[in-house]
Amino acid sequence: MDGIVSRFAPSPTGRLHLGHAFSALSAYDLARGAGGRFLLRIEDIDPGRARHEHIMGILEDLRWIGLDWDGEPLLQSTRLPAYHEALDALHRQGLLYPCFCTRAAIAAEIAASASAPQGPDGPIYPGTCRMLPQEEQERRIAQEPHAWRIDMARAVARAGPLRWQDAFAGTVDADPQAHGDVVLARKDAPTSYHLAVTIDDAAQGVTDVVRGRDLFAATHVHRLLQALLGLSTPRYHHHPLLTGPDGRRLAKRDGAPTLAALREAGVDPQRLVADIRRGVLPIGFASANA
Ligand code: GLU
Repeated sequence: MDGIVSRFAPSPTGRLHLGHAFSALSAYDLARGAGGRFLLRIEDIDPGRARHEHIMGILEDLRWIGLDWDGEPLLQSTRLPAYHEALDALHRQGLLYPCFCTRAAIAAEIAASASAPQGPDGPIYPGTCRMLPQEEQERRIAQEPHAWRIDMARAVARAGPLRWQDAFAGTVDADPQAHGDVVLARKDAPTSYHLAVTIDDAAQGVTDVVRGRDLFAATHVHRLLQALLGLSTPRYHHHPLLTGPDGRRLAKRDGAPTLAALREAGVDPQRLVADIRRGVLPIGFASANA
């Protein structure tokens, strides 16, 4: 059996916090503990939020907690041709359609409908653009901003039953249909999280995806894309999320301290890392946050 290859794949939309450190250390320990490789991928496909200064900050944060990675970090912004090729392949299979809806129009349609089906991330897309005649699609593609959505029912029928192995959840039956017709290429970016992450995990030879439980539901879609694109399926490790003293998930928006702030406050990184590895929040968490 080939060695373990794991990765940490942050989005450079801010500095790393303790939850990221826990995830990165978990991925690092899994691979390096078995003599395998640990990769770093920067998921900088969000044109509105990804910033170069955050990439630099993330590298600094990871080095501060003692992590190194094999090879150069892979930047998703350099991978657009690969995403384009995958979209083309799905298009040729007749599984994509252009969507011209604005967020406001989708919200209004959902609000007006008596029973909007709920997906893992809220109400699912009502399918407004799925039935547009080809002529109208072609005319509007030339004139209007549009996303590309997957025709989920058709894709699921094509792929058949799918499963994946999860170190925490065991064997999981994939249920991508619960997500509805997700976007695979955004209006403002030529790909989406779902597509880019699936293609890159396969392209980088990742054998073990270690990430937080908050991304568990997304794996239903990733498993489907693997099947449709003929990509290998890694093992998944959706670890529990670190929680603050109030029992709630640590999140930047709730004021969880960044690694940069802890460093600034004089926290000893070795002790911090030892605590995180034991799943314990560092002493001084609350005061560093005050
Ligand atoms: N880039 C994603 C994030 O920062 C994580 C992607 C993944 O681990 O699959 O939330």
